[in-house]
Amino acid sequence: MSSSRYEVAVIGGGIVGMATAASLLSDRRLSLVVLEAENRLAAHQTGNNSGVIHSGLYYKPGSLKARTCVEGREALYRFCREHGVNHEQCGKVVVAVHENEIPALRELERRGQANGLAGLRWLSPEAIREYEPHATGVAGLFVPETGIVNYKQVTQVLAQQVVENGGTILTGCRVRQVCRKGDELVVETDQGEVSCRNLINCAGLQCDRVARLCGVEPGLKIVPFRGEYYELVPERQFLVKNLIYPVPDPRFPFLGVHFTRMIEGGVEAGPNAVLAFKREGYRWSNFSLGDTLDALTYPGFWRLSANYWKTGLLECYRSLNKRAFVTALGRLVPELKPDDLRPAGAGVRAQAVEPTGKLVDDFRIVEAEHMIHVLNAPSPAATAALSIGKTIATLAGKSFGFGQPSEAA
Ligand SMILES: Cc1cc2nc3c(=O)[nH]c(=O)nc-3n(C[C@H](O)[C@H](O)[C@H](O)COP(=O)(O)OP(=O)(O)OC[C@H]3O[C@@H](n4cnc5c(N)ncnc54)[C@H](O)[C@@H]3O)c2cc1C
Repeated sequence: MSSSRYEVAVIGGGIVGMATAASLLSDRRLSLVVLEAENRLAAHQTGNNSGVIHSGLYYKPGSLKARTCVEGREALYRFCREHGVNHEQCGKVVVAVHENEIPALRELERRGQANGLAGLRWLSPEAIREYEPHATGVAGLFVPETGIVNYKQVTQVLAQQVVENGGTILTGCRVRQVCRKGDELVVETDQGEVSCRNLINCAGLQCDRVARLCGVEPGLKIVPFRGEYYELVPERQFLVKNLIYPVPDPRFPFLGVHFTRMIEGGVEAGPNAVLAFKREGYRWSNFSLGDTLDALTYPGFWRLSANYWKTGLLECYRSLNKRAFVTALGRLVPELKPDDLRPAGAGVRAQAVEPTGKLVDDFRIVEAEHMIHVLNAPSPAATAALSIGKTIATLAGKSFGFGQPSEAA
């Protein structure tokens, strides 16, 4: 590739990068390139997630997560209808299996109401079975606005829009270095140099490193948490009609192992949350010395471990011991037996951790000179992507000085 010049370069061809690029091009003429390291789009978090369209139930009212999840969910349903993307608004049940989980379930109901969710229904043990005949609990919450979709398909349609609106997408084009030369940012990639006026970092599991390449200290580090799945064998898929979730531990951003019907068929169980020894480490055997040392030399990692080592060890045990995984899921569906499950895939979450050891709870988007960096976009960022993309495009419009829509060349 010879040296090329663009108004905007978006780093990362996951759903957040693609939604951002599509939004930027939707109302402006702009020379824009998306630089994706892998030879296909949606290769990491976006292509290996649970495929759930989250309602917005869990997130702190007023947070960026709450706003963009609710807006993004509605935008996503519209987008799927308009572009013929297979999806279903099937609803889900969150089940309290013990009396002591009821206050946390009530808190979720309160948060859901504060976030504007419609149609939440508190469930008695009998009512849980109206929705999920094989689930058992002391109380439940039905959330009708939850749905399922395949996020790889959504990303593909966004990519089509980007190209139709004049954008360029380069795959197999990992960003290696970024330097400023006068008014330009010169981006060194596997395919040569790309120069741009403005840059948007949507690099997911690598976003903190990409920020550093750009000379921006992100003030956090991505710690990769692998989420492993099993799937129900076909003969036992009748155990789950749609989506069955536990009441999550409010200290963590992860939702606890649950059952999810997939839009393309089948039912997945998981994901757990184990520390990965490689940022893109989808199995225990995937090990990167650099990534491991990077985590082990980070004070935030040790502070996190000091607080949550017990939970971490339990997650590792459950990852290596199928019976423990089945026991966790069997709290929701007591008829479940080990033979009902077989191993399925895994995804790795990009969770930002502060030097204090605090897990960054909200999405984090920061601006620097001619740059915007997305530094924390874990779940529900796939659901929220259309709204995140719009938010970034608005920010870019102001801080990159594009002028009025359609005026920029
Ligand atoms: C197990 C799991 C389950 C989840 N379930 C759900 C769910 O059901 N619903 C939901 O809403 N969310 C879910 N999420 C979260 C959701 O998948 C992510 O929040 C979302 O996909 C983030 O998108 P992204 O574009 O930021 O990141 P990614 O999809 O990871 O994309 C980042 C891209 O940047 C590229 N990249 C990295 N470094 C470079 C570089 N140097 N140069 C060029 N390109 C680079 C990568 O190759 C990658 O393609 C889940 C996540 C996981 C891991």
